[in-house]
Amino acid sequence: SAWVEMATIKAIEGRSVHQIQSGQVIVDLCSVAKELVENALDAGATSIEVRFKNNGLDAIEVQDNGAGISPADYDTIALKHYTSKLSTYDDLTSLQTFGFRGEALSSLCALSKFHIVTAQAADGAKGTKLEFEVSGKLKGTSVVAAKQGTTVVVETLFNNLPVRRKELEKNIKREYNKVLHLLNAYACISTGVKISVSNQVQKGKKTVVFATNHNPNTKENIANIYGTKTLLALIPLNLKFEMDPSNRPGATQSARNWSTQDDGSKEIKIVGHVSRPVVGEGRQTPDRQMFFVNSRPCNMPQLAKAFNEVYKPYNLTQSPFIFADLKLDTNAYDVNVSPDKRTILLHDQTALLENLKTALGDLFAGHDQSVPQAQLL
Ligand code: ADP
Ligand code: MG
Repeated sequence: SAWVEMATIKAIEGRSVHQIQSGQVIVDLCSVAKELVENALDAGATSIEVRFKNNGLDAIEVQDNGAGISPADYDTIALKHYTSKLSTYDDLTSLQTFGFRGEALSSLCALSKFHIVTAQAADGAKGTKLEFEVSGKLKGTSVVAAKQGTTVVVETLFNNLPVRRKELEKNIKREYNKVLHLLNAYACISTGVKISVSNQVQKGKKTVVFATNHNPNTKENIANIYGTKTLLALIPLNLKFEMDPSNRPGATQSARNWSTQDDGSKEIKIVGHVSRPVVGEGRQTPDRQMFFVNSRPCNMPQLAKAFNEVYKPYNLTQSPFIFADLKLDTNAYDVNVSPDKRTILLHDQTALLENLKTALGDLFAGHDQSVPQAQLL
């Protein structure tokens, strides 16, 4: 009967499985930008250009001047779990590069019209265009003109997931703003690198959204992106905490995750910039809050909450600008908790938050709130 037929469980076609899994790695415009920019940084690029077409709805292209892809890797580069960066699970604990799963390119093949142009130093002005099957299998190569580096082109994202595509079209304004915020974070944290972002809407002119310029420090990056005025309203963050693994809640289960030093303590530093605690001065909006763990941009809502709480008495209407980079031992957190690697699990979060609030309170209270902006110039 019809009922029996409906209840029959069928194995999902391999191609659909690949698409479903890919949809968990690449969930939105942000994941695309994040994966491609991280790949460019991993390749040692000092110049990265991110180009949006129609806010990313038509295309996102990321061009870098990094090492390029070796011809020996052309066949495997977009196959699932192919990565040149990690071969055993143990390597995860000493992770230096951003990528480590070998899923991004493979997922993009399944979810978009996708190609790569790449050239290595020895190739001269000659590059190779790589085209792939939906499965990530190399379909063909051709010779094109190219400078050293790699350009990855992602067109019509989610073209074969109609519901996801509709959602993207509907929310494109919000998605585009979210991706710019993420790119701001990469551009602010990346010193010695030029990151530029442009957008071309319909057949209009390409407009540069922002660009950094190989700056030696994060302050100049912030000035490039948010303007020198924003910079003048900031004070340096330079906090240091000695965490004692035996004293904190839940220490017994997770203390072993810390590579404990002789004295049994572990250091966490928070460096960066935060709004001066001057009443009425903060003009910043919450999307000017960036968090990093060992220079890796990530979502840290609890940390953001702590900053905002301590800042609140100084300015009831505006949120502070926050650029906070947590420096800690790679054994003190897990990166591998979400497919997009943006959520990071700190083993010592509760104790850190308490310490942070106290330290921030002291920092703000000790700051001379009467200094008018003109005197700082
Ligand atoms: P992962 O970054 O986890 O290794 P990806 O799917 O993002 O996985 O990339 C697969 C491989 O493709 C990388 O390991 C790297 O060797 C190569 N690759 C990707 N992007 C670039 C790039 N921009 N420049 C040079 N090589 C790249
Ligand atoms: Mg990667």
